[in-house]
Amino acid sequence: MQIDIPAFIALITRGDYGGGARKIKEESCLLAVCGRVCPAEDNCEKMCVLGKKGEPVAIANLERFVADKEREQAKVEAPALPSRKKEKIAVIGSGPAGISAAGDLAKLGYRVSLFEAFHKSGGVLVYGIPEFRLPNSVVEEEVNYLRKLGVEIKLNSVIGRLFTIGELFEDGFKAVFVGTGAGLPRFLGIPGENLNGVLSANEYLTRTNLMKAYDPAYRTPILKRKRIAVIGGGNVTMDAARTALRLGGKEVTVVYRRSRREMPARPNEVHHGEEEGLKIRLLTNPVKILGDEKGWVRGMECLRMRLGEPDESGRRRPIGVAGSEFVLKVELVIVAIGNGPHPLIAQTTPDLKTDKKGHIVADEETGETSRKGVFAGGDIVTGSATVISAMRAGRRAARAIDSYLKRQ
Ligand code: FAD
Repeated sequence: MQIDIPAFIALITRGDYGGGARKIKEESCLLAVCGRVCPAEDNCEKMCVLGKKGEPVAIANLERFVADKEREQAKVEAPALPSRKKEKIAVIGSGPAGISAAGDLAKLGYRVSLFEAFHKSGGVLVYGIPEFRLPNSVVEEEVNYLRKLGVEIKLNSVIGRLFTIGELFEDGFKAVFVGTGAGLPRFLGIPGENLNGVLSANEYLTRTNLMKAYDPAYRTPILKRKRIAVIGGGNVTMDAARTALRLGGKEVTVVYRRSRREMPARPNEVHHGEEEGLKIRLLTNPVKILGDEKGWVRGMECLRMRLGEPDESGRRRPIGVAGSEFVLKVELVIVAIGNGPHPLIAQTTPDLKTDKKGHIVADEETGETSRKGVFAGGDIVTGSATVISAMRAGRRAARAIDSYLKRQ
């Protein structure tokens, strides 16, 4: 993405916040979202020359500021659209990849239908990332913007069950973009994982964020406990742990098997979590979850670790220290060690090539897959990544679908 940051900052310094928002929107379609959750420290702020001697310009905060100003002043307008083309395109999944692909295709004049399995659009932005980091209203604005562009949004529509991709083509769609993300949680495979009181971060966060378990009016059941362990070291871990604190957890402990340096979570998320009272137990690996006579979690046996040589991920491999087992007294265990792709689309789409982990194989530049007319991007191709990378993939695929249809 080639955003002209100096021009963006110059517009803000002149007080032209609308101009600033438009400058970013030339390249990014999820301004208010990226300003809140994108790892700017690894992207635009990393490139800032001021960062070489001190603190870089807080570009993400500026992005968030202009986006919020634009929304407050109700100035989010749809651009002039070209005349409607006859071709219909199906976009599956309404996370950042699907939203970006659908928006760009609509701006090119295509008739776009966006199919979403849940009752609400936004993907991880609404079911995963908590309200305290990214308010749902911000995502709703982005989805409304798609409606203004003429995108037809079909909720509660699980593709692979309601229709297959083959049936979408039979129904007259000329191309399909698959942006179904990586929503299948991984588990540890240790004894005791089936006890009551062990759940995936995915389930915990979906119940809370999408199904509003924190609001008694929604009557969504959620386990509330005082002593909670959250296993993992990424953003999902920090979101689940900080949510657990807000749902009444008194002692919430993040259990991570490597050291702080290897934690994939954004440093500011870890910092905020610790400020809020999270405990972080580093170099600790759960080996067994212990239950009481009624089958509820009563504790977790852990092993202390030390770091060895780097593994294939480039991070130092954790090695168990013999005889260092100890028991952590907890009543709820949330597993946040990553997600894989849901197999439904691959299972119901003949000739769609996947890799050994089940990700759809797609061209990095165009999103083209092994099946003619089917494009894919975002976490379903790369595995769990970032909002910005999913957005980029959606936009690149939109351009590729346009040239594909022009060649037909
Ligand atoms: P998703 O956002 O997963 O969207 C996929 C959508 O497809 C979902 O709505 C799903 O319901 C739908 N779907 C799936 N199957 C079907 C089907 N068969 N038919 C119809 N619809 C279907 N990234 C960051 O950059 N910064 C962060 O701070 C950050 N925090 C995160 C916190 C959490 C808790 C999680 C889980 C992820 C976080 N990420 C973060 C990662 C980021 O959110 C993802 O990389 C990004 O959302 C991927 O976008 P996507 O569009 O590929 O998929």
